Parts: sequence; structure tokens; C-alpha cells
Amino acid sequence: MAPRRRRKKNRSIIYTLIIVFLLSVLIGSAAFAYKYMFEDRYVQVNSTTKIWDTPSDEEKSSSPLQQQPNTTKNQEKNNSKQTSSNQNSVNPNTTKDTKVSDTTNVSPEENISPQIDNLDKDYGISTFIFKLLNKSEIEKLFGPPIPFNKRVFGYNKSAGKVVALTFDDGPIPEYTEKYVDILKSMEVKATFFVIGKNAQKHPELLKYIYENGNEIGLHSYSHFNMSKMKPEQMVEELYKTQKIVVESTGVKPILFRPPYGAFNKTLLEISDALGLHVVLWNVDPDDWRSPAVENVVNRVISHTKNGSVILMHEGKTNTLAALPQIIEKLKSEGYSFVTVSELLNYEKNNIANSNHDQQKD
Ligand SMILES: [Zn+2]
Repeated sequence: MAPRRRRKKNRSIIYTLIIVFLLSVLIGSAAFAYKYMFEDRYVQVNSTTKIWDTPSDEEKSSSPLQQQPNTTKNQEKNNSKQTSSNQNSVNPNTTKDTKVSDTTNVSPEENISPQIDNLDKDYGISTFIFKLLNKSEIEKLFGPPIPFNKRVFGYNKSAGKVVALTFDDGPIPEYTEKYVDILKSMEVKATFFVIGKNAQKHPELLKYIYENGNEIGLHSYSHFNMSKMKPEQMVEELYKTQKIVVESTGVKPILFRPPYGAFNKTLLEISDALGLHVVLWNVDPDDWRSPAVENVVNRVISHTKNGSVILMHEGKTNTLAALPQIIEKLKSEGYSFVTVSELLNYEKNNIANSNHDQQKD
């Protein structure tokens, strides 16, 4: 009798232990998932963290990037600042087919940094960028900082019957030339948001895009989700891509479309400080999924309004086939085609000035 009861007691202790163990695993993983999903994983910048990927010796000697000094005080200041700004994530979307219905008025609720008119002023983000890049390098590559009143551009409804065609993810050999040739033959200009990694391999394609009247904007270097990056990585992505475009075309891009349309407040502030307008879109035919040509055409035509920014992708056979029909139909509806910069400045300049002239160094 006694041994059996003891065995029973032992067994119930074991069951209790198993249940406690399973519960703690469950609670632990739920807590981890919560932390992973809702907190910026990179907010905590360790003071000993290397800011940049280890450069090769060659890069080390020529790189204008400055190693950040190990001043814990400054690091802490940046950390606390990044924490507060990352908590105000404006658009945590990470899906490719993010729809942007009204982005022209997206602006931060609170003004963390005072307006940056001039990078000499000792303000948050610009000070932070100065620690990473030489001032002369910033001036050589980037346009003047943008005031914080116009943070994200999705379309310009007051622009009248004009639209901006945009093509992401290039340049891609075999495709970029064909896209440009169609635009050229139909006397239309567009904006190409290029990935730095691709552009590095094909600077001649950047030249081809620009020399045929189109505009070039940045679309990051690596095409990772930049809203999940450390601020240092954000600067690096923009800097590397900007450098490639400036060196291949002589033109300073003033537009940046974040991959997946994903951004946070820190990325907006960095973009502003580097003179880059953040550009999204308001017409998305989902062409990256390669739907039938007629679907690409119909989706674009049915959603386009005055001042639309139309998102399409490079490297897509169906997009290429749809392009002449899209242009023809929009023309027959009375639309004319401008670059994104022209659309941005439509009211100010009434597209009188070619943006190329303004940007030429
Ligand atoms: Zn993309």
C-alpha cells in the first residue's frame, strides 16, 4: 500500500514539474515574441559595437567614414534619443504590397529635433551623422537638408493632370535599357529608385537612365527593411548608394524610397538631414508578383488620379509589356508624365525648370 501511494505521489510531483516547465516555456516564448515584434531590436547600441562593417584595408585608407569614438556619454545620449524616436514608429509595414492611401500629410506628432536649416547647427541627427561622415563628404554628395515640414511624399493632388511613373529595384541588365528605350520612344520620363548593390555592378546603366532624361532616386544599398536597422546602418545604406549614383552620373539624388515602404522616425530624420525626400506611392499594381499584363495595365489605369505616383518594378517581363499600354492609355486620358522631383515641386516651379539642371554639380 505505502510504496504504491509513494509512487503515485512521485508521479504527481513529476506531472506538476512538467506542467510548470511547459508553462514557463510558454510564457518565456510569448515574452520573447512580444519583445521581438514590438521593440526595435537595435535600439540598444553597445558602446563597443563597431559602427560599420569591417572595411578592407583598401577601403580603410580611402574611406571618408569616420570610426565613432568610444565616448560612452555620447553613445548614451544617442541611445536615449533613438529609443524615444523609435517608439514613435510611423509606418511599421514590412509587406511588399503596402498600400499608401494618404502619405502627403504624414508628419511626426512631436518635434524631437528642432528644424535643421543648416548642418553646422549642433542638433541631434545632424550631429550624429557628422560622427559618421566628413562634413566635406556630406556637402560633396548630398543636397541641402530638408525642413521637417514635408516628410513623406505619396502623391500631389494639387498637381493637375500629371503623373510620375517610378521603377524600383534596378538597375538590372537586359531590363533597364528596355524600360528606358520604351520611355524614350514614347517621349516620357520616369524616376528609377535604384538599389546600391545593383548600381555598383552597373554604373553604365545609371548613366543610361539619367542621360535619357529620367531621374534617379535611392532605394537603399542592400534592400533590407531599414526600419529595423541601427541609425548608423541607415546612414551607411544611404551614403553608399548616393556615392555610387553621384560618381556615375555627376548628379546628386534628392529622393529616397525605403524598401517595402517601411520607415520610422529616425529614418525620416536622417533622410531629411541628408537632403533626401522620402517618397512612397499611391498606385500599386502589385507587378512584383508578375500578374498578367492586362492586370498590370488595368490596375494602374483604374487607380491613377491627378498627381499620382505609380509604383512598378524593374526586371519584370510583364511590367515591360504593360508599359507601352499604360503610357498610351494615360496619355489618352490627358495625363502627362513628370519625374517625382517635378511632381514634388509642381506648385512651386510649375515644372518650368528641369530638375536635372538644378541638381547638376
Ligand atoms: Zn524594392
